[in-house]
Amino acid sequence: MTQLPLPLPATRAAATARLAAFLPRAGASYAARRNEDLPGHPYVSGLSPYIRHRLVTEAEVLDATLRAHPQGADKFLAEVWWRTYWKGWLERRPAIWSAYRQGLTEALNRVQTEAGLRAQWEAACKGDTGIDGFDHWARELAATGYLHNHARMWFASIWIFTLRLPWELGADFFLRHLIDGDPASNTLSWRWVGGLHTPGKTYAATPDNIAKNTNGRFRPTGLARDCRPLSMAPHPAPRPVPDGDALHPGAATALLLHEDDLAGDGFPGLPAATPLLFLVTTARRSPLAVNPLVTGFVDAALTDTAARLGQPDAPRFTEGDLDALADHLAAQGIRQLATPYAPIGPTAAALQRLAPLLDARGIRLARLLRDHDAQAWPYATHGFFRFREGVMA
Ligand SMILES: Cc1cc2nc3c(=O)[nH]c(=O)nc-3n(C[C@H](O)[C@H](O)[C@H](O)COP(=O)(O)OP(=O)(O)OC[C@H]3O[C@@H](n4cnc5c(N)ncnc54)[C@H](O)[C@@H]3O)c2cc1C
Repeated sequence: MTQLPLPLPATRAAATARLAAFLPRAGASYAARRNEDLPGHPYVSGLSPYIRHRLVTEAEVLDATLRAHPQGADKFLAEVWWRTYWKGWLERRPAIWSAYRQGLTEALNRVQTEAGLRAQWEAACKGDTGIDGFDHWARELAATGYLHNHARMWFASIWIFTLRLPWELGADFFLRHLIDGDPASNTLSWRWVGGLHTPGKTYAATPDNIAKNTNGRFRPTGLARDCRPLSMAPHPAPRPVPDGDALHPGAATALLLHEDDLAGDGFPGLPAATPLLFLVTTARRSPLAVNPLVTGFVDAALTDTAARLGQPDAPRFTEGDLDALADHLAAQGIRQLATPYAPIGPTAAALQRLAPLLDARGIRLARLLRDHDAQAWPYATHGFFRFREGVMA
C-alpha cells in the first residue's frame, strides 16, 4: 500500500525508503493502474511531498528508476519529467505567477463583498456542496495534505466548470493544504484544466470516468457538460533560462537552505562544514492560513536537514526577518551566501528582497542552479511532448 502515514515523516531517510519500496511497482503496474484513485493510493508512489522539498531530488528518482527498470517504466519517468517541465515553463514566464497572485487577491476581495460567492467558496472548501466525490476530496485534502492526481483533476474541473468558482481560489485552496503544494505544478495544472495552458483544450470531469477510476465509490450527478475554456491572454514569450551563479572560492561562505531544496548536497566547491542557516517561507504560499500539516512537514524537514548536515542548531529566519538574517551573516564575517536556486515562488521572492540587504553589507548571494534544471529548462518552451523529446535526446 502507498498509504501516507500521518503525520508524514519528513526525513530524507523516509524519502529514500519510500522510493526503494515503490521501485518494484514503477513499471507495468504504474502504467496500467496509476489513474485509479483508491483508498491507500496503492498504484502511485506518494513521493511528491519529498520531491517537492527535495528531500529526494528528481535526478535521484529518475536514476533509481532507470536502474531498477532499464526499460518499462516510461510512464513513471514521464510523470517525474512533468514536474521539471512545469518548473521550467513557469521559470521562463514569471508573469504567469504574478498574474495568478493578482487574480487571487481580486478573487479574495470579491469573496469579502459578494455574500453568495463567499458561501459557495466556503461550502466548496469545507466539502459541503452535496457533489458526490468532490466533498470527499475537499475533506481528504484538508485531513491528509494529499490528493491523488486524478482526484486533483476532477476536483479542479468541477470547481471551475460546475461550481463556476474563480480558478485562483481553487489553486489557493490546494496550495495551502497540499504538502507537495508547488507554485509551478499547481498553478499550471489548474490553468491546464481551465483551458488556459493549451489553447482550446480543457479537462472535463465525467461521472463515468470518476466511477470507473474510484471503483464505483463516487458517481456525481449534475456535472457541467459545457467546459469551454476560460478566456485567456496570450502566453508571454519565454525569457532565457536563468544562469546560476558560480561560487567564489576562498570567500568566507555560509549555506542558506529553504523549502524548495533541502537535499543539502550536490554543489561542488562547497566545503562540508559550511555554516548552515534556513529561510522559511511556507506561510507565504497563500494570503490565508496554511494547513498545519504543511508547516509541520517543513518544520520537521528542516530539523532533519540540520541534523544530517551536523548542525542541529542552525538558525531559521522567516521572510519577515531578512534584515536580521543579513546582520547575522555580517556579524560572522561571511562574505558569500550560497543557496540552491529557488524557482518562481515565495522563496525566490524573499531571496530577491534579501539580495540588496546582503549587498549593503558586502555579502554576495550565489544562487546555485542544479545541473538537472540547467539542462532541462531550456526545452520548456512549448508543450510537454516537445520538452520530453529534448530532454531524452
Ligand atoms: C489541479 C492539479 C494540481 C496539482 N498540484 C500539484 C502540486 O501543487 N504539487 C505537485 O507536486 N504536483 C501537483 N500536481 C501534479 C500531481 O497531481 C502530483 O504531483 C501527484 O499526484 C503526486 O502524487 P505521487 O507522488 O503519488 O505521484 P506519482 O504518480 O507517483 O508521480 C511521481 C512524481 O512525479 C511527479 N508528478 C506526477 N504527476 C505529475 C503531474 N501531473 N505534474 C507534475 N508532476 C507530476 C511528482 O513529483 C510525483 O511525486 C497537480 C495536479 C493537478 C491536476
